[in-house]
Parts: sequence; structure tokens; C-alpha cells
Amino acid sequence: MITNRTFTMIKPDAVEKGNIGPIIEKITAAGFKIIAMKMVRLSRADARAFYAIHKEKSFFNDLVEFMTSGPIVAAILEKQNAVDDFRALIGATNPAEAAEGTIRKMFATSISENAIHGSDSNENALIESNFHFAGREVF
Ligand code: UDP
Ligand code: MG
Repeated sequence: MITNRTFTMIKPDAVEKGNIGPIIEKITAAGFKIIAMKMVRLSRADARAFYAIHKEKSFFNDLVEFMTSGPIVAAILEKQNAVDDFRALIGATNPAEAAEGTIRKMFATSISENAIHGSDSNENALIESNFHFAGREVF
């Protein structure tokens, strides 16, 4: 199993604000290599499936609404200890609690519109990468 890759999405809020470039700069400056990348607008079915683990949560419908409100940039990233290092780089889910210099501290608006996704385990990194890039030569 691949353990040195993670999966990310630059979320619709950050795309809308023109922050794709600055966020990619932070990611590559932190030592992550971009293995695959695409800009796409998720369907409601895509968003519901991707976040199915949260389907019982009170914020689920709002999350699906938000994630389908505009295009996202999906990417597979490679680095030693990718999952944990990337979660550290993006910071806490709530930007008010995110450390200085983290991507969410710099670019997120709120706990829901928080600029970026990062996989929380090696297993989910593989599942999420396959969700967006299955069947492509890159993976
Ligand atoms: N989210 C939300 N309200 C909450 C918690 C989460 O809108 O109270 C959204 C937010 O966009 C978050 C996503 O749901 O990034 C997934 O939540 P999770 O707890 O997995 O946070 P993450 O792993 O993204 O830090
Ligand atoms: Mg999560």
C-alpha cells in the first residue's frame, strides 16, 4: 500500500477568491510533489459520496451545497509522511483554531468554508485519490 501520498481538494471558496495559485505555492514550497491535478465541478452525487462518512452530521447538507457551489481543484500529492505532514500544513478544520502560517489560517473563511481538504489516513488517501482519478494513468 502506498503510504507516501495524500489527496487534497482546493475548495470552491478558495477557487472563487483566486487563491489556487497561492495555495499551490504553499503546497510545493512545503515539499509536496504534484502527482495528478484537475479542476472540476462536483455533482451533488459526487459530493454526497465523497463525504458519505459525514451523512448523519447536522452540517452534511450545507457541506454538499458548498462543495457543489463552484469548481474545486483535486490533486494527489507525494512526500514522505504525506498524510500527517499535509494535515499539519493545512491546519485545524476551524480556521479560528488553526496555527499561524497554515493554509486554513491564511485562506479559510469559516469552519465550513475552509479552503482546502486533506485526507486523514493512508487508507482514505487511497480511497479519495481513486474516487477522483481512478482509471487514469497517473495512479
Ligand atoms: N464541516 C462543517 N462544519 C463542521 C465540521 C465540518 O461545515 O462543524 C465541513 C468542513 O468543510 C470540513 C468538512 O466538513 O472540512 C469535513 O469535516 P471534517 O471533520 O472531516 O474536517 P476536516 O477533515 O476537513 O478537517
Ligand atoms: Mg475529514
